[in-house]
Amino acid sequence: MRYLITVLSIVLLPQILAASEVNVYTSRHYDSDAALYSEFTDLTDIKVNIISGKGPALIERIKSEGVNSRADIFFTVDAGNLWKVQKEGLFQGIKSKNVLTTVPENLRGPNNEWTAIAKRARVVFYNPQRVSQKEIIDLAYEDLADAAWKNRVVIRSSSNMYNQSLVAALISNIGLERTEKWAKGLVENFARKPQGNDRSQIMAVANGEADLAVANSYYFGVMLSGSAGEQQQEAAKKVRVLFPNQKSRGVHINISGAGILKHSPNSENGNRFLEFLLSPKVQKYMVDRSYEYPILEEILPSPEIAGLGLGFKEDDISVKKFGELNPEAIRLMDRSGWK
Ligand code: FE
Repeated sequence: MRYLITVLSIVLLPQILAASEVNVYTSRHYDSDAALYSEFTDLTDIKVNIISGKGPALIERIKSEGVNSRADIFFTVDAGNLWKVQKEGLFQGIKSKNVLTTVPENLRGPNNEWTAIAKRARVVFYNPQRVSQKEIIDLAYEDLADAAWKNRVVIRSSSNMYNQSLVAALISNIGLERTEKWAKGLVENFARKPQGNDRSQIMAVANGEADLAVANSYYFGVMLSGSAGEQQQEAAKKVRVLFPNQKSRGVHINISGAGILKHSPNSENGNRFLEFLLSPKVQKYMVDRSYEYPILEEILPSPEIAGLGLGFKEDDISVKKFGELNPEAIRLMDRSGWK
């Protein structure tokens, strides 16, 4: 009998152990996520292994690992990136009822192959010393192409996915022709050639190099919190944030999100992990550190972000469109001379 138990445990134990883990491939660049993962282990006894890296490198790795891949979850930013992974056939459908009822349909991928975990708005940062209230009242993205903003706008390059998704949303909302005309007008209004990341656009507005910048909302929180240094904190204090298109369809919303990989060896744990990320406590923990907006309506964003105002209007376009229209958006930006 004892012999049998020993044999059984030698045979079965590795399987039991192997089943109690989840392997998360992540391109999110937030250190704070690590602390979350140990909380999941405390709660479920499922060990979380983090493999972090740049999105494209992780995708290449998952592809080359093929059916032998240990990856259960791919976690990244921007619906455009999640769409690309889905198009490569690397995801399976999320099965958790909990996830599917928590996350609105417009924030999930086709066949539920990925889901939003948090939201971000692509907002306008302006310098109140150089922009009057009258100029920006009821501002829409469309207005950024007006001659009134000549040499006053900064935005990063067209190779950036955040901008590609913004343009894809515009194509869907106002049509290809109007969006192209808009992009050409916007390029005319650039205060400088696109350079740097979202944060450097905000810095340019703070130091008077430009009057308006388009950048993601969470950078305001990161900068204002002081965690990125005094210089950025001072810059954040000098700028104001505006949510465009409040009189029309609402501000452009993008997501960070995740999906379960097709060859996931622990897909059940993967579903549980996604449920965990969407639970109230974790949503609060996450947005307090990433400065994103929560998916759960009852959760408040961080104080820095809440200070920008709550209850603004969000464009409820399906984020799937950003992927679907991505090639069209890239071609359009190219034709418009957006470097
Ligand atoms: Fe970012």
